[in-house]
Order: sequence, then structure tokens, then C-alpha cells
Amino acid sequence: MTLINENFLNLTNNYLFSDVANKVKAYKACHPSAEVISLGIGDVTQPLPLVSVDAMKQAVEEMGCPKTFRGYGPEQGYDFLIDAIIRNDYLPRGIKLKPNEVFISDGAKSDCGNIGDIFDSCNSVGMTDPVYPVYADSNMMCGRTITYLPCNIANDFVPSLPDKKLDIIYLCYPNNPTGTVLTKAELKRWVDYALLNDSLIIYDGAYEAYIQEPQIPHSIYEIDGATLCAIELRSFSKTAGFTGVRCGYTVVPEELTASTRHGERISLNHLWNRRQCTKFNGTSYITQRGAEAIYTPEGQKQVKQVIGYYMQNARLMKDSLIDMGYRVAGGENAPYLWVKIPDSVSSWQFFDRMLNEAQVVVTPGLGFGASGDGYIRLTAFGQQEDCLKAMRRMKHVKM
Ligand code: PLP
Repeated sequence: MTLINENFLNLTNNYLFSDVANKVKAYKACHPSAEVISLGIGDVTQPLPLVSVDAMKQAVEEMGCPKTFRGYGPEQGYDFLIDAIIRNDYLPRGIKLKPNEVFISDGAKSDCGNIGDIFDSCNSVGMTDPVYPVYADSNMMCGRTITYLPCNIANDFVPSLPDKKLDIIYLCYPNNPTGTVLTKAELKRWVDYALLNDSLIIYDGAYEAYIQEPQIPHSIYEIDGATLCAIELRSFSKTAGFTGVRCGYTVVPEELTASTRHGERISLNHLWNRRQCTKFNGTSYITQRGAEAIYTPEGQKQVKQVIGYYMQNARLMKDSLIDMGYRVAGGENAPYLWVKIPDSVSSWQFFDRMLNEAQVVVTPGLGFGASGDGYIRLTAFGQQEDCLKAMRRMKHVKM
């Protein structure tokens, strides 16, 4: 008899975005001529930077030529991309990484889910509520106990330190879904907590490129001691329109260790490398050339232009929502707006009313955790005219 992993039965049946997609599909089926604007799903709308398109075309040509063809690449990624990351994303911030500390992947979602392979399922896990659902679901799949750290208006969306020892803590800044950031002092409290309690922080910086204010930390390694307690994840998805191309990376410092049940310290870099070599065969050469191209001066210009466009959407939407009387977090250093909705409606009721009365798709906050009820998330990834039109329509829905 084959036994299943029963932890899967503890997961909610539908993934948040499938629920949203099903409701939108049903609405469109009944109203085929309706022009529905989606401010819900976190996918980008602007195409790839031209530098990446050109680099990928060139890479395809190389792959089609006997002399320059490449087969399997290194599981950890090609040196050209790893070097570009170290030189551009870390060195200017005073962070010195070695090439073997950076692992290229097919995106941060895979790494978020897969990183758990190297940790015992008895570890206690902490994460914010609301939270990017992948952290919660992937830990539930292997039966770990999760402690949620509520983030709401009362604490200005800054989670309090746990009142007990947690083994693994997920932090995501700039945050999905609240769009908020941590100051250096706030992030330092987490690093100090982790060092004191021998905890590990998994720091998701998928939206790092959206940080606008100069004093906000871009990497957890800007904080002293973080290389002893933190793994950092990054993604090219929202930085450079790679949602469909798939590329990200994970930093596992050499000096980072965790314990066996007998107290022996083991290198996490070694374990992650072992895991990747066994279960992953590398990100495609073509993709990695496309990612490398964004680090050229022209690439940086193109990437910044698109991020500037999305951040302008965020500002326009935030101003409109505040004019309508909503309290709005985020949107300053992140492409997400986290909007407090009236107490009289739940976040799914608000979703339904916006879909039916304004043909605007929002993401119900409840989908990100219990503390998300009472809020909705809007994304700034749309076309500017759609964002403005959606705001005009939302204004007419009286709650
Ligand atoms: N981490 C966070 C917080 C995200 O919001 C997302 C995507 O929405 C990801 C990771 C996944 O990124 P990728 O497209 O690189 O898998």
C-alpha cells in the first residue's frame, strides 16, 4: 500500500490565486462584454528589457552552433552571472560574497519551497501574518509547526519579535503583501534575535529593486552578523520582467551553519549545494545570459525605467485611494498597496463587490492569512491607464 504525505491534507484546498481566477472566470462567463481590470495577481505587464532579449537571442545562436553549443551547465549557475550579481547587487553595499555562496535558480518560489529540504521537520517556524502563502504551505507540507507574527495597523505592519525561541524565521522585505519595509534598526533586531537564539532567517528580497528610500536596507547582509544567521533569496521576476523566463538566486554564506540532533555544526552552504546537485540541473544558459544583461549600464537604465513606471502607478493609486478615504500601507518602496477596507465587509465580500460593481479585481487580504481580513492587496504592475481607470471605477462603489 502506498501511503501519502498526510500533511498535504492540512493545506487549504485551493491556492488563493486559483480562487480569485475562478471567480473572475465565472464573472466573465456571465458578462462576456465586461472589461475587467486586474489589480490582483502579482504578474508584471511590461515586456522584457531589450538588453535581455538581445542577450537571449545571441545565446540561442550560440546554442545552435556546434562550436559554441553548451549542454548541462553548472548546477549552481554560470560564473558570468554569479560574478555580475556579486559585483552589482552586493559589493556596492559593502558586502563581499564568494562565488560559491551564490546559487542561481529558476526563481525564488522554487527556492522558498525547496530550501526546507535541508532542515529537520521538527524545526519550529515563524512568519508574518499576512504572508506570501508559499512559506506557509511549503512548511505545512512537511509538518512543521508555524507561529504567525501578526502585522496590522496597530503595529504599523512591523512584526514583534517572538516571545519564544523559533528555529526558522521567514522575513520578506519589501513585503508581499503589505508593501512595507524594515529600517536597518528594525532588521538588526531580527538578526540579533537570530544570533541570540541560534535561529535561521530566510530573507526574501524578491522586491529589493523597488526600494526608493536610500536608508532602507537592500540586503540582510548589510547588518553585522547576518552571514552567521541568514539565507537570502532574490528574483529577476519583478526586477526585470522574468516571471515567464524564470531566474532567481539564493545566497548561502559559507560560514552559516546549523546543528545536527547531536549538536554538531554543519555548513548549510554544503547541504544546499548537495541538494541542488541532486535535484536541480541548473537554469538554462539562455536565461542566465538574459539575466546577466540587466547588469550592463544600458540594462540598468532599462530596468530602472520599468520599475519607475510601476512605482508611478503605485503613487497614483495610493493618492487616489487616500482621496477616497482609505488607509493605505505600502506603495513607497514596493509595488504593492495594502488597503484597509471598511469593518462592515470581509475581504472576500469587498472582492465580490469590486468585481461585480466596478469590474476591478483586487486580492482579498484573507488569502494571505487571518490578519489579512479587513484588507485587500492591489498591485502596481498594470498599465497606467488601467490603474487610473480602476481607481475611477472604485470611487463609485460606496461601501
Ligand atoms: N517571493 C515573493 C515574496 C514573491 O511575491 C514572489 C512572487 O510573487 C516570489 C518569491 C517568487 O518569485 P519567482 O517568480 O522568482 O519565483
